[in-house]
Amino acid sequence: MGLAEKLAQERRARLAAERMLALKQAELSSANRKLGEYALALTKRIGETQAEVETVRDENERVKSDLTIAQAKIEVAERRLWHSIQTIQDGFAFFDGNDRLISANTAYLSVFEGLDEVAPGVSYQRILDLLTDEGIIIIADEQAEAWKARMRRRWARMTPPPEVIQLWNGQYIKLIDQRGQGGDVVSLALNITASVQHEAQLQAARDKAEAANRAKSAFLANMSHEIRTPMNGIVGMTDLLSETPMNDEQRLYVDTIRASGEALLVIINDVLDYSKIEADKLELHPEKFDLERCILEVATLLQPTVRDKGLTLLVDYDLFLPTLFVGDPGRVRQVLTNLVGNAVKFTPQGHVLIRVTGVPNAERKTCDIHVAIEDTGIGIPADKIDHIFGEFNQIEDAKSREFDGTGLGLAISKRLITMMGGAIWVESDPGKGSCFGFRLTLPTAEGAQPAPPPDLADRLKHVVLVEDLAINRAILGKQLRRLGAEVTDCVTGTQALSAMQGSVDLVLCNHDLPDMDGLELAATLRSRGWDKVPIVLISANPGIIHADPNHHLIQGVLQKPIPRAELFSRLMDLGGGVLPRPKAAEAAPPPVRRASGDRRLMRVLAAEDNRTNQLILTKMTKGLNIELRLAANGLEAVAAYDEFEPDLIFMDISMPKMDGKQATEEIRRKEIGTGRHVPIVALTAHAMMGDRENILAAGLDHFLTKPLQKKLICEMIQTHCPDEAQPVLAEPAEAG
Ligand code: ADP
Repeated sequence: MGLAEKLAQERRARLAAERMLALKQAELSSANRKLGEYALALTKRIGETQAEVETVRDENERVKSDLTIAQAKIEVAERRLWHSIQTIQDGFAFFDGNDRLISANTAYLSVFEGLDEVAPGVSYQRILDLLTDEGIIIIADEQAEAWKARMRRRWARMTPPPEVIQLWNGQYIKLIDQRGQGGDVVSLALNITASVQHEAQLQAARDKAEAANRAKSAFLANMSHEIRTPMNGIVGMTDLLSETPMNDEQRLYVDTIRASGEALLVIINDVLDYSKIEADKLELHPEKFDLERCILEVATLLQPTVRDKGLTLLVDYDLFLPTLFVGDPGRVRQVLTNLVGNAVKFTPQGHVLIRVTGVPNAERKTCDIHVAIEDTGIGIPADKIDHIFGEFNQIEDAKSREFDGTGLGLAISKRLITMMGGAIWVESDPGKGSCFGFRLTLPTAEGAQPAPPPDLADRLKHVVLVEDLAINRAILGKQLRRLGAEVTDCVTGTQALSAMQGSVDLVLCNHDLPDMDGLELAATLRSRGWDKVPIVLISANPGIIHADPNHHLIQGVLQKPIPRAELFSRLMDLGGGVLPRPKAAEAAPPPVRRASGDRRLMRVLAAEDNRTNQLILTKMTKGLNIELRLAANGLEAVAAYDEFEPDLIFMDISMPKMDGKQATEEIRRKEIGTGRHVPIVALTAHAMMGDRENILAAGLDHFLTKPLQKKLICEMIQTHCPDEAQPVLAEPAEAG
């Protein structure tokens, strides 16, 4: 091999080696670069990790210091809390789920002073034992064991009810315990001594005030009672004085005295009743009574005012409602008098209707009675309606100031109805009228109720009813239809005349009709050949009809408002074809009398202890043709009954030696077997209203309240004048 070749070979080898070197160098520098990059990345990661470590370390430090601060805070808070708990006056304690004391404040522990065992760890049961055994608490009416058992039961509850205990030193502690989660109990023992004492003082003050109020009311009640007797005298005397000859001026004075006296009596009676209720002196006296009769009596009592004002007073007592109940009739009557009296007072024209409905409860033997008094009067403004049941509340405007009254009537009525367990209310439409209502649940009286309405369908097929007042036409029409009759309603006499067709079994007619009166209608009917059909008139004032020479044309008069029983019995009489006799109760016309010359005087006995009242009675009856005998007490009255043989007795109820009730009982005893029954009229004060049934039960027949009124006394005497006595009023023939 040549040199050149060798040189070439070497050059090639060198070149190859140089390429190899360059390649390796390139590889190395690539590896180096990668290494560098890796190292760089590593360094960065290390840096980051280091920073993280740094942060965590910082965090740790911070948490550690926070913890320390929190710890310190908790300690402070706990210290403060405990300090607060310690400083409060009330006891505070914690118990664990096993009812062992965890801790308690000083106030709690002070109750157990000297008993070292009351410390954390003591059981609740042991605390109860110590409370009773060591005499720490005063247990009023329980045995210690019973008290502890009750306290344990209470403790076991999730929310034990508060319990008040009294400590030996007179302090009152209210225990309020609350069970938490896990059974822990927080127990708070509040010292309520101050408020208990305060309450006791308040109660004492209230008792004292109430006692003072009762004393005041009792005083008022006594005073009004005392004032009333002389007031009755004044009113009675002015009544008499007004009968004597006087000039106009004197008459005005006397009338004023009398009106003032009567107004004063009303006030005194209201105050008396109200004071009695306030003084707790008013008691209810339940007894058997007839509600319908009670209502009719109230209506009768108010009838004169109703008549004077030209109003109509109507009673609509549900035909199928029982009438006999057990209740206090005097008080029921008083409420009715107030409500119906108000209705009449505040109604210038139109009518007042007393409507009675009810629902008997056969099982309980009671009846829910609902009484409504509707009027067509001035009404009550809506903004006043809530006030009128309050004391002394009247509607304060010119309209009602013209009416007198105390403003106590409704307050008294409300109290009475509430005492009876009922409710009273009012609805009103100003300018149109008011409706007062009350509801009572009363036991129905044992024994027979009045017979249900008879069925008169076969005897009373067709009735012509003549009444101009729609409401009364509706009531009477309803009652007649229930009895089975067919009713032709007529508003005027003329209408009635044209309605008389076919067969008519009865004409029931209001006496006051717009076009003619009832007797004129009767006369026309009789003249037109209707001479068999019975005609019965309805009137608020039957006296006028009886005094009319034409009264023989009719078969009877029913006094408004008509008692149901009266209506039924009158219709039964007619239906039976018997010509009805006028009933005594309707103030029958005086029977035709024989000449008076051969007759004795009517004998009237008046038993009355009060001199003024004796004088009043004497004067009131002075003009009458009677023989009057006075008795000063019950004993004298009984003696006079034997010896004087009176035709009528006026009997005062409260009299010395023997009272009016006893005297009457004695007289009734004497009458047994003799067939005699002398009418006895009770003379009573308003205060005895509640005794009314009692008085009637003693055998008295009638009732007049003081102040005595000449008119009523005379009417009573006239009604009971026997046939064999001379007429009480001088006969026209004799007078002429
Ligand atoms: P008095 O009638 O004595 O004033 P009450 O307590 O009976 O007292 O009645 C209170 C008031 O209620 C009456 O003054 C009157 O203003 C009003 N009032 C009562 N009843 C009626 C009625 N039927 N119509 C209109 N107002 C009435």
